[in-house]
Amino acid sequence: MPDPPSLYLPQQCELLSVSNLTPEEKLFRVRKCDGTPLGHLPGQFVQVSLLGWGEAPISVASSPTRGVSFELGVRQAGSLTTALHGLTAGDSIGIRGPFGHPFDLSLLREEELLLISGGCGLAPLRSLIQYCEDRPAEFGGVTILYGAKSPDHLMFREEVTQWEASGRFACGVTVDNAPEGGCYDGNVGLVTHLIPSLPLDPGRTVAVIVGPPVMYRAVIAELHKKQLPSSRILVSLERHMQCGVGKCGHCAIEQLSCCQDGPVFLLSEIEQLRGAL
Ligand SMILES: Cc1cc2nc3c(=O)[nH]c(=O)nc-3n(C[C@H](O)[C@H](O)[C@H](O)COP(=O)(O)OP(=O)(O)OC[C@H]3O[C@@H](n4cnc5c(N)ncnc54)[C@H](O)[C@@H]3O)c2cc1C
Repeated sequence: MPDPPSLYLPQQCELLSVSNLTPEEKLFRVRKCDGTPLGHLPGQFVQVSLLGWGEAPISVASSPTRGVSFELGVRQAGSLTTALHGLTAGDSIGIRGPFGHPFDLSLLREEELLLISGGCGLAPLRSLIQYCEDRPAEFGGVTILYGAKSPDHLMFREEVTQWEASGRFACGVTVDNAPEGGCYDGNVGLVTHLIPSLPLDPGRTVAVIVGPPVMYRAVIAELHKKQLPSSRILVSLERHMQCGVGKCGHCAIEQLSCCQDGPVFLLSEIEQLRGAL
């Protein structure tokens, strides 16, 4: 039997397509050159590399139920992601992983799901949303709340519309600011504003939160007001990471490694840790 690939050695992958999501984010469809599936679960991430530019953790934005290729939604943030944004279909990238703890599907199964995302956080949640779409019998009702900076920053707009139209998902979308006189006629305000009016049964609901650090405390406070306990809230945390496999200590949260023990944590397990939220 061949040896498993080294955790530290990137595997060569081909970009099948590159498309614009927003002015700052692109969607990359990727296939491993050896033709095998990535083998991920929703919530996991890969370390993406380009020779000469380095490596960065990026969440997988598509569900493993969608075939051998996989998708990455990438915001242009610094050196590697700027170089990635310059690539086109047919170019190669390196991938290590998948790494990290996924969303705990055993906790989510048969429950009502409340999926809350801000900004780029919709990318990892899309993996879970597609998974729920493909295995509808496994989950209860799914509500998706999504907030972005402005109408131009809304990712996966057509898909969000389709999710809502399918009747399988209830969707609430909002933007922080919308230009006066523009064609956007949806909600304006923070994503937290969508929570108070939600019908939520705290004994049957599990919430999942993925977004920028500033969002977590406010969203969690609103969920607690609805009596949802921390043992029913999953959070996916972002930290600067290097090795991705719990060795270098770069992403430590007290005794935990965000890359290996996370990035998805049960809130009740981390809320007392200094610097976790
Ligand atoms: C688990 C996980 C999943 C992620 N998923 C996604 C995703 O799906 N899509 C996406 O677009 N992004 C995602 N990110 C964020 C992404 O990894 C970062 O934006 C990454 O830094 C981009 O790499 P870069 O080389 O382009 O930018 P960098 O050159 O790393 O710069 C990005 C920004 O971070 C600052 N910075 C860099 N290193 C440090 C440091 N050590 N300490 C403090 N500040 C620093 C820089 O000044 C700059 O403002 C994820 C991060 C994690 C941890």
